[in-house]
Amino acid sequence: MGKHMLKRIDLIFKNEHDTDAILQKIFKRSNEDLINDLIGSGLKGRGGAGFPTGLKWKLTSEAEGDEKYVICNADEGEPGTFKDREILSQVPHKVLTGMAACGRIIGAKKGFIYLRGEYNFLKPDLQKEIDNFHTTLKSLKSDFRIEIFSGSGAYICGEESSLMESMEGRRGEPRNKPPFPTEIGYLGKPTVINNVETLAHAWTIFKYGPKKFRDLGVQDSRGSKLFSVSGDTPVAGIYELELGMSLQDFVDDFGDGDTKAVQVGGAAGFCVPRKKFRETAIGYQGKLTGISLPTGGSMMLFNSSRSMYNVLKNYLEFFEEESCGQCTPCRVGCQQLLEGVEAVKRGDKPHHYLDKLMRLTETMKLTAKCGLGQSVANSFSSIVENFREEMIY
Ligand code: SF4
Repeated sequence: MGKHMLKRIDLIFKNEHDTDAILQKIFKRSNEDLINDLIGSGLKGRGGAGFPTGLKWKLTSEAEGDEKYVICNADEGEPGTFKDREILSQVPHKVLTGMAACGRIIGAKKGFIYLRGEYNFLKPDLQKEIDNFHTTLKSLKSDFRIEIFSGSGAYICGEESSLMESMEGRRGEPRNKPPFPTEIGYLGKPTVINNVETLAHAWTIFKYGPKKFRDLGVQDSRGSKLFSVSGDTPVAGIYELELGMSLQDFVDDFGDGDTKAVQVGGAAGFCVPRKKFRETAIGYQGKLTGISLPTGGSMMLFNSSRSMYNVLKNYLEFFEEESCGQCTPCRVGCQQLLEGVEAVKRGDKPHHYLDKLMRLTETMKLTAKCGLGQSVANSFSSIVENFREEMIY
C-alpha cells in the first residue's frame, strides 16, 4: 500500500457554511456568466454518464416554456455506491445551493430531491435543512422551493426517465430517448436532472471559480470525484480523488496487497483484472491513454480468495431482479444469462456455451431499451473474458 499515495482532495466535505454569501454571489451574476463558469470548469455528471453539466443547464435554459424543473437524483442504488448518502448527511446545503443556482439559470421555481426509498431515514434532517434554506432564499427574494420525493426502492428509477415516470405516478419504466429531459422532462416540461455529487461540485465552482476545479484531473476528465471504496480493502470508505488516476495507483493505495480484480462502476461497470491495472485510467472517454473507465464512484476490490463466478452470479441475480421487464432482450436475456452461467458451472453445458452467452450480451447491448439491459454486457464480458477458468465446471 501507499507506494504512490494518491492526493486526497477535500472540496466536497470541506466544512463551509457560507450559503447566504454564495447565493448572493450567484444571484448577482448573469446566467451567461454562471453557465460559462460551469462549462469552463469541465464538470461532467457524476452519476456515471458523464454528460457536461454546463451544457445540460444551457440547453434547458434555452428550451421553450415557462414551467421548468430541477431534479436532484438521490436514488443511489448502484451496488457498492454510498457517497451520495454521505453528501446529503454532511453537506446538504451545498446540494441545495447547486439546485437553487440551476433553478435561477434555467428559470425553474421548483426543485425535487428524488430520495432513494432506503434513504428515508435521511428525510427528517434533510427536511430541516430545506426549511432553513427556504428562509435564506426568501431573504434573498427568491421564490425557488425544494421538495423531497421518496422513491420506492427500484434500481431502475435511478435512470432519469424512469425516475420521472415514477414521480408522475406511473410504474418506473424508462421512456424512449429522444426526447431528452432538457426538452421534455418532468410533466413534459424542460428539466435538469443531476446527481447529488454533481450539484455539490457546482458549489465549489461558484465559490472558488472554475479554475480551481479545472486544475484537478486530466484532459476530458476534469476535477475531483468521490469514490465509494469497498470489498477487500483495509480502508473501505469514501474518498475524494482526482480523475485520471491509473487503477494501479488506486490499488497501491487501497488494495490489501493481493488484489486480483477491481469492479469499476458497480454491477453496471467493468471488472478489471490485475494485468490491466497499469493501462486502465479512471475517467471519461477522451484523450486518456489506454483504457479509460467512467464510473459513478463504486470501486469494489476483490482479492485472490474471491470466486469471480460468485461475483458474476451475484450481479446477474441483481439484474434479473431489477430488470423492469418492459423489453424482451433485457427481461429474457438476464434470466438466460443467469441460468446459462449456472449450467456451465454445474457441467450441464459445455464451456463454449459461455461464447453464446457473450453473443447474447452483445445483442442486449444493441437492442435493450435502456442502460440497465445495455450495460449487463460490461460486467458479464469483462468477468467471463478475464476469469473464464473460474466460470467452468
Ligand atoms: Fe426495462 Fe431492462 Fe428494458 Fe431497461 S433494458 S427498459 S430495465 S427491461
